[in-house]
Amino acid sequence: MIKLHDKYFKPFISAAKIDDAISKMVEDIANDMGDEIPVFIGILNGSFMLTSDFVKKYPKPCEVTFIKLASYEGVKSTEDIQRLIGLTQDLTGRTVVILEDIIDTGNTLAEVHRIFKNEKVKSLKIATLFYKPEAYKKDFKLHYIGIEIPNKFIVGYGLDYDNLGRDLPEVYQIKETQHMTNLV
Ligand code: 5GP
Repeated sequence: MIKLHDKYFKPFISAAKIDDAISKMVEDIANDMGDEIPVFIGILNGSFMLTSDFVKKYPKPCEVTFIKLASYEGVKSTEDIQRLIGLTQDLTGRTVVILEDIIDTGNTLAEVHRIFKNEKVKSLKIATLFYKPEAYKKDFKLHYIGIEIPNKFIVGYGLDYDNLGRDLPEVYQIKETQHMTNLV
């Protein structure tokens, strides 16, 4: 058990299991790519660890870059309105594989699709290490899924709780007590 800020988290997914899931994703994607040189795009901050481990395992030539979500400033809204920054590369005619740390409601993914609608990519594939099927509210196809998890808050392997926990090599799940309310 670990404590981050005011919350307790229990061990949930080992580093070895994460490693296996990434190896499987790499194998599936490499097979599907054939001779295509893909552009892997990690969504920061959460996918920095995944992207690094993923491309180290990828057995063929590839390109790798990152984009980041940023909240619009000066927008008075209760909704979390976001945009993606950092996409500078010309992706015309390229096969792009988005590397997501986790897909929860799918709001982030919807924004990714909105941005890429205007890019003349050859194809856009979505790969996510963790996926919460009970929370997912969108219809976008998820092409590669590492590990399906219940709809509970996790930290580690790039995922944080209020900036702590990103550095952990394994994943922890929030420990709910009678006094704890849902975090997400
Ligand atoms: P979505 O847009 O699919 O609802 O969620 C995407 C983002 O929400 C992720 O990239 C991540 O930053 C955050 N998120 C969703 N679920 C979790 C979770 O269980 N733990 C942490 N630390 N972040 C999460």
